[in-house]
Amino acid sequence: MDIPTSSLHNQHIQKKNHFRLGFGFLFIASVGLNIFLLFFDQENNGAVASLPQDAGMISQISIEPSELLPEVPTKEVPQLAPVIKPVSYTVPSEKTLEGKAIHTLSFKVKSSLNYTVCKILTRENGCAALSAHLGRLMAWFMDIKKSMRNGDSLNVVYQQLEGPEQFKILKLSYKSQFFGKTFEAYYFDEFDQGNGGYFDSDGNEIAKRIVEAQSPIRHYKEITSLPGDFRKKAGGHSGTDFKAEVGTPIYSGFAGKVLRANWNVRANGYCVEIDHPKLGIKTLYLHLSRVKVKRGQTIKAGQQIAESGNTGRTFAPHLHYEIQNRKNKKAIYNPFTSKYHKSYTRNIPPQHQQAFQKTVNLFNSMIKES
Ligand SMILES: [Zn+2]
Repeated sequence: MDIPTSSLHNQHIQKKNHFRLGFGFLFIASVGLNIFLLFFDQENNGAVASLPQDAGMISQISIEPSELLPEVPTKEVPQLAPVIKPVSYTVPSEKTLEGKAIHTLSFKVKSSLNYTVCKILTRENGCAALSAHLGRLMAWFMDIKKSMRNGDSLNVVYQQLEGPEQFKILKLSYKSQFFGKTFEAYYFDEFDQGNGGYFDSDGNEIAKRIVEAQSPIRHYKEITSLPGDFRKKAGGHSGTDFKAEVGTPIYSGFAGKVLRANWNVRANGYCVEIDHPKLGIKTLYLHLSRVKVKRGQTIKAGQQIAESGNTGRTFAPHLHYEIQNRKNKKAIYNPFTSKYHKSYTRNIPPQHQQAFQKTVNLFNSMIKES
C-alpha cells in the first residue's frame, strides 16, 4: 500500500528499516492529510475537491524536496517551482461496469504523484491509496523518482472497493515526457479468473512473474509492493509482497538450510529464514500462517516450507518475500531484476484476444467521454 519510488531496474538496493504496510500507509495518509488540510480545509466536503481560486496561496507551502519532481528540461536535482499552479484534471465521472461504479480521472502531474492525486481526491476518499496503486503499477514502466516530470499526463479508470485496498485500477495511461511515449496498462482476467493482470494494448503482460519452479509462491493475486518501494524517506521496502489468501503454499525457490524460524513474531508474524550459501544469499518469508520447517533443517529447491498468512504487522493477507546478500543483510535484491530468479510475462491467449480488445476499447471510451 505504499508508493514505489524506486525502480524495478535497481538490482541492488540498500535496505533501511522495513516499514510495514500499515505504517507506510499511515505516513502517506498523514502527508496527504497535511496537504489536504492546507489546501482544502474550508472547501471540501464532498468527493471531489475544488482547486483553490488563488494559486498564489500555495506558494507558501513548504514541501519535502524528495517529494518534488524536476521541471521537464531538468534532469538533475528536483526543484520547487516558485508558484505551484493548480493541476489540470477532469472530474471523476461515475459509470457502472458489472454493477460497480467506474470512475475516471485525468490530470497532469505536479510535484509528485501523491501530491497531485491528493489535490484532486480527499484523504477520506483515499488519495494516498489511489496514488499508491498508480505508483505500484507505474513502477513496472519506470523509476518514478527519476523519470516522472511535471506536466506528464495521467489517465486512470478505476473502481472503488470495500476492502483495505480501496481501489482497483482498470486502465492506466501515462504520457511520459522523459521517455517521449505513453505507457498503458489494462486490467484483464477473463482468460484466468482470479489470476488476472495488467497488459499493454497488444496483450503483453506488464508485471513479471517468477518461473514456477523457483517461485516462493505459485498462486497469488498480485504483487502489491516491490523492494525499494516508498516507506518512509530513503531506503524503502525490503521485500516483494505477494497478495495471497491465507493458507497458500509457500516454497523455497532454492536449496538451502533453515537459519531461523519465528523470530520477532510481533512484527514479522510467523516467519522463516533460509541460507543459500552456494548463491550467496538468504531468503526470508514473513507473515505466514503456518511454518512447516525447523531451524537447521536442510531444504531442497522447490520444497514447501510454509503457508502464507496475515500474522504480525500486516493488514491484509500476503507473503513478504525478501532476498538478502548473506554477508550484508542491508543489500537486498529485486527478484525480477536480479540474477537469482528467472522471470517471464504472460500473453493473452488467442481465444481471448477478442474479449481483451473489447475491454481495451471499453476502458478507452470511458476516458474519452470524461
Ligand atoms: Zn513486505
